[in-house]
Amino acid sequence: MELTDIKSLSIDELKEQISLMGDKAFRAKQIYDWLHVKLVDDFDEMTNLSKELKEQLKNTFQIVTVNPIEVQTSKLDGTQKYLFQLQDGNVIESVLMKYKHGNSVCISSQVGCKMGCRFCASTIGGLERNLTTSEMLSQIYVIQRMAGERVSNVVVMGTGEPMDNYDNFIRFVKMLSDENGLNISQRNITVSTCGLVPRMRQLAEEKLQITLALSLHATTDEKRKALMPIANKYSLEEVLDACNYYFEQTGRRITFEYSLVGGVNDTKEDAEELIKLVKHVNCHVNLIPVNPIKERDYVQSNKKVIDNFKNKLEKCQINVTIRREMGRDIDGACGQLRKSYQDRNAERKL
Ligand code: SAH
Repeated sequence: MELTDIKSLSIDELKEQISLMGDKAFRAKQIYDWLHVKLVDDFDEMTNLSKELKEQLKNTFQIVTVNPIEVQTSKLDGTQKYLFQLQDGNVIESVLMKYKHGNSVCISSQVGCKMGCRFCASTIGGLERNLTTSEMLSQIYVIQRMAGERVSNVVVMGTGEPMDNYDNFIRFVKMLSDENGLNISQRNITVSTCGLVPRMRQLAEEKLQITLALSLHATTDEKRKALMPIANKYSLEEVLDACNYYFEQTGRRITFEYSLVGGVNDTKEDAEELIKLVKHVNCHVNLIPVNPIKERDYVQSNKKVIDNFKNKLEKCQINVTIRREMGRDIDGACGQLRKSYQDRNAERKL
């Protein structure tokens, strides 16, 4: 019999399962606390449960976790990159960034990605599979345990397209912000999408308080199509409409991510077009100097071009920041650590 993934069950579902097993519902609360607050990965560590119950649990459930196999720490800013192995042998990566206002973790939502953005390392091998809710939560739990410090912010901006793993993602947000678990405020959770319009609209209707970040990266359909295949499916107009709808439904300000690629989308005209597109949206623009990957020949815009781009937006009263490059000395950009691990392994096999 296949064992149920207990860490993906909400507290109400766990209560139901435990009462079906003939036990009291308060036991479910104790177990949930072990898994989601005390962050243990072994039934034997649940010291306030009877031996019989622990045996019963082991026969019904498994505790899914992620296993750290490599941790890189930046000498520049203390950013840590974690490479985790999953139970089926796949590897994923997550990042811990330490800011003055707290610790932020960037997690992956899929093994690989099928969206095909041209500048992104995560998509090169395609999509392997979705991550379960427990695998998404465990990235945060293991990092919090290893770092010995509370995680206060979570961004779903690692490998994968969260809107392509919608149900597991929504469950993840609800459990992460549950008062019986880590209780991370939804306002401190951000999800980034390349723009799957129907899912963005569905997300708006969930009435969560999370921040939606849209990977915009270009100001015309033509340019966006050249960088992001998903733009062939949904036009800029449709994507921006979905952003407005998200704001209407949730009152949450939208973040637009704009990766600056040298000579591709960083001209004066691009800045002007961007201003036209976003000036009526309650938003924040995050400029990301593209992180060049060796498989593509995109280059970063030079510092002056980046500053000019930012100043143009600021002059029009648009909230804009340049994303600080955290952990520049380690494999910092999306998917690069996983990719370099895969390349190293492939070499070993030759
Ligand atoms: N699938 C989601 C989350 C992915 S990554 C999405 O597309 O939004 C988070 C952000 O980093 C996205 O805006 C993505 O386009 C951007 N990104 C990916 N690779 C990058 C690179 N090499 N340089 C700069 N930005 C990159």
